[in-house]
Amino acid sequence: MTDTTTAPTATEEPVIHVLWINAGLSCDGDSVALTAATQPTIEEIALSALPGLPKIAVHWPLIDYECGPVQGADTFIEWFFKGERGEIDPFVLVVEGSIPNESIKKEGYWCGFGDDPATGQPITTSEWLDRLAPKALAVVAIGTCATYGGIHAMSGNPTGAMGVPDYLGWDWKSKAGIPIVNVPGCPIKPDNFAETLVYLLHQAAGSAPMIPLDEQLRPAWLFGATVHEGCDRAGYYEQGQFADAYDSPQCLVRLGCWGPVVKCNVPKRGWMDGLGGCPNVGGICIGCTMPGFPDKFMPFMDQPPGATVSTNASGIYGVLIRRLRSITVDTLDKEPRWRHTGQKLTTGYRKPW
Ligand code: SF4
Ligand code: SF4
Repeated sequence: MTDTTTAPTATEEPVIHVLWINAGLSCDGDSVALTAATQPTIEEIALSALPGLPKIAVHWPLIDYECGPVQGADTFIEWFFKGERGEIDPFVLVVEGSIPNESIKKEGYWCGFGDDPATGQPITTSEWLDRLAPKALAVVAIGTCATYGGIHAMSGNPTGAMGVPDYLGWDWKSKAGIPIVNVPGCPIKPDNFAETLVYLLHQAAGSAPMIPLDEQLRPAWLFGATVHEGCDRAGYYEQGQFADAYDSPQCLVRLGCWGPVVKCNVPKRGWMDGLGGCPNVGGICIGCTMPGFPDKFMPFMDQPPGATVSTNASGIYGVLIRRLRSITVDTLDKEPRWRHTGQKLTTGYRKPW
C-alpha cells in the first residue's frame, strides 16, 4: 500500500507497519467487511489520516497493488520477509482465517501464503506465525475463524483447525508484553476491528495504555454486553411478545435467537454506519462471536434450551404488565384535565367559519 521501506533512522519519520495474513482457512469475509468501517474508515488508516498517529504502512492483500515476483521491486510478500528479518519495526500482525494443524496431514499442506525462495515450496500459515509472531509488536486475530477456529474447527473436521490463541497459547505475549487480541465475528463488525487496530497503533506510538481484554482476549469495551441488552426487540421480550414468523417485529427467541447469552455489540452499533444488526432487522442471533460457535449453537433454527422457561415466565408476567401499561399509556396519551381540552373553547378565540 505504500513504498515506505525499512525501520526509520533517528531523523526519519517513524512508521508503523501492519502485516496482514489472510491465508488461514477462511472466506476473506473479514477483509471484505472491513471495507465498510466508518469509525475510522480503512482509507483513513491506510492513508495515515488519523490525528496523533505516525505514518501507517498497511500490507493487506485486499488493497495492495504490489504484486511482483518474489525478491522483485514491487513484491507484496517481501514485506513479510522484512518483518521476519527484523527490518521493519514496529509492526502489528493481523491474522485472518483459522490455523490448520499441519502436523496431522499425510502429505502436502493445508494452507499457505507465498513461496519460500529457498525451496520454492509454499510457506504454511502456521510457519508464518512461527516466523512473525516473535517479531510483532502485537498479534491481532480478526474474525471468529482466526480467534477461536470458527466453522473450520467444527467437530469432525479433518484439518485440526484452530484459532491463533490455540496455536500460540492463550498466555502468549508479544515482545511488547501485549497478549493476543481477539476480534471475533463471522464476519467482524467492521468498526470493532477498525477501532481495535487504531487502539493498538496508538499503543505502538506510545500514546495508549495496555489494551483492556476480557478472558477470551476480546477488547473488553466492545464485548462486555449481550446482544439482548442492545436489541431493538428487547422490549417485546420483556412484555412476553414473541414472534412465530419472520415477518413480525416481536422478539425472535422462539425462532432460535441466542441473543440473551451472546456477547456482541452488533444490535447496539449496527453492522455498518449504525445500520442493521442481526435481530434488529429480523435475523436470529446464532452466536457467531462466541468461542463455542458453531457447534454449541446448532441446530441454528431451534429454540435455545432454557428459552422455554424464560419465555413462559416472561409470557405470564408480560400479559399482566401489558394490561397495566395500556391503562397508563391511555392516561399519559391525553393532556391533563386542567388544560384547555375538549370541544368548548375557553380562550376567547373565535373561529372565522
Ligand atoms: S430477538 Fe433475540 S436479542 Fe432481541 S430481544 Fe429477542 S431474544 Fe433478545
Ligand atoms: S448478533 Fe449474533 S449472529 Fe449477529 S453478529 Fe452478533 S453474535 Fe453474530
